[in-house]
Amino acid sequence: MYKNQNLLNIKRRILIVDDELINRTILAEMLKDTYEILTASNGEEALEILNKEEYITIVILDLLMPKVDGFEVLKRKKANINIKDIPVIVSTSEKELEVKSLKLGASDFIKKPYDDVEVIKARIAKLIDLYESKIVVNKTREDELTGLLNAEAFNLYGEGILLNSKKHDLIAIRLTNFIFLHDYLGSEKSNTILKNIAKELVKFANKNNGIACRSHDDYFYVLIDHISNYENIVEVLNNELSLLHERINLKVKIGVYQNVDKSSEINVLCDRAMSAVDSNDDQTQDIGFYDTKSIEQNIYIEKLISDFDNAIKNEEFIIYYQPKFNIEGDKPKLEGAEALVRWIHPELGFISPGDFIPLFEKNGLIKKLDTYVLQKVCKDLKFFKENYSKTLQISVNFSRNDFFVLEIKKKVDSILAKNNLEHKDIHLEVTESAYTRDGEQLIGILNSFRNDNYLIEMDDFGTGYSTLNAITDLPFDYLKLDMIFMRKFDSNKNSRKVIKFIINLSKILKVKTVAEGVETKEQCDFLKSLGCNLIQGYYLSKPLKYDDFILLLEKES
Ligand code: C2E
Ligand code: CA
Ligand code: CA
Repeated sequence: MYKNQNLLNIKRRILIVDDELINRTILAEMLKDTYEILTASNGEEALEILNKEEYITIVILDLLMPKVDGFEVLKRKKANINIKDIPVIVSTSEKELEVKSLKLGASDFIKKPYDDVEVIKARIAKLIDLYESKIVVNKTREDELTGLLNAEAFNLYGEGILLNSKKHDLIAIRLTNFIFLHDYLGSEKSNTILKNIAKELVKFANKNNGIACRSHDDYFYVLIDHISNYENIVEVLNNELSLLHERINLKVKIGVYQNVDKSSEINVLCDRAMSAVDSNDDQTQDIGFYDTKSIEQNIYIEKLISDFDNAIKNEEFIIYYQPKFNIEGDKPKLEGAEALVRWIHPELGFISPGDFIPLFEKNGLIKKLDTYVLQKVCKDLKFFKENYSKTLQISVNFSRNDFFVLEIKKKVDSILAKNNLEHKDIHLEVTESAYTRDGEQLIGILNSFRNDNYLIEMDDFGTGYSTLNAITDLPFDYLKLDMIFMRKFDSNKNSRKVIKFIINLSKILKVKTVAEGVETKEQCDFLKSLGCNLIQGYYLSKPLKYDDFILLLEKES
């Protein structure tokens, strides 16, 4: 017997095989409240169902049927490894057939006509118990600490539950600060907390026809019939916790994946629910919902990642150049350009960097991409300088991760050297927010570039919250005003004051200012009047394809 029979509050499936409709109907009526019933009207059909359907817990088999009879079913079942262990209760009115069917593997008998309902139910329940404890002989089913199902058993029974045509929800439950709590309270007390959570989760699961498990630490999962209100369970769990520890801010957070996609494996469903918990890391909300739209998004992301290597090999990443103009003189003068990457995907078409750069920054592929971009840019720049403008400078975007590649500077040096370029031909654009996040190490690396004549542009200035105090210590030669200031140019009066302030700040720091996202003449004139050195934006030029950039170079030189 299971220690925690009530933990498995799921309807087992029973297959009733009888050629007489009346017998099938009587049995089904008798059992349908406790079990999920499948029926077959002959032996052939029974074997078909057994082979096709999973998680049939018991077969109730009539022995005497035309064509393929009960004995034949027992024989064929015994020979089939996939179904041979499913227990069979034979239903017969003839005592002498019992021994024969026993030999063929039947486990028990019930007598026709079916008069004693309670006896029949009891025999079925007992057999299920025996059978289920047999299959788990070698597999512990329970989480030792809490008595909930362990992850393996949860997966096993969960699959059975999902066969049911109802909608189901998967909920992941975690505790805030659990690791801290464990250290602080010691394992005995924190174990008590986990056990109490488990108790409430069992009640919750039972009430909603589901199962609950603890996979490890404070990772709990519950699979239940679909419901719409989760506030209650969160409240109950939090009450439980507050009773235990008034002084500690201990709370549960749950992630809910509603109406789960039944074609996915249970552990995938668990991961999705858990990701909804993590989406609430700000700790202001207790419940996070898994956004099913993100399934499509995930597929898209997976595709971009898996196609990456081929894209590098097939040169699907191409570089656009957005001109930067010096506006100090009478006429804007081309001084350089920013290299901006695009992905021309063979199936998905044009993909803008906003779709893949953040993704590749997260998973590290950015390093390979940026090296590729730098190589292409250097090759192009060599050509531009030899044929058009000797003083042209190109800026290349560097992500924070790029700088933590071993010997990054040597690598960049060698790419430039191969193309006979001087260090000052390349600007490294580094976004301001990169400096603000554990900047020390980055500052050291950037200094080493700068001491060797590379020029550094602090990109997106105004979004990274540098303090005025810190900014004096940061290594950069150009301050690139974020385009947000141009977007607010008309709507927000203060925006012009801030632009003026930043340009003055640049002058104090003795660095040049680049304004990006400049779209109108009015913006351009305003910037010029303040002494801004360079502008970049749709007003003077959009990012250009290689061939169009060459045309511009021809015109300018
Ligand atoms: P960013 O470095 O701030 O680049 C400026 C973005 O503003 C570019 O978008 C550019 O096309 C756009 N832009 C330029 N002028 C205007 C304008 O007047 N109005 C408006 N509304 N937009 C303008 P894009 O090319 O989509 O690039 C987006 C971001 O992707 C870049 O932002 C940069 O952070 C990143 N990125 C692009 N190429 C690379 C690369 O090779 N390596 C790395 N690490 N990041 C890159
Ligand atoms: Ca940039
Ligand atoms: Ca920028």
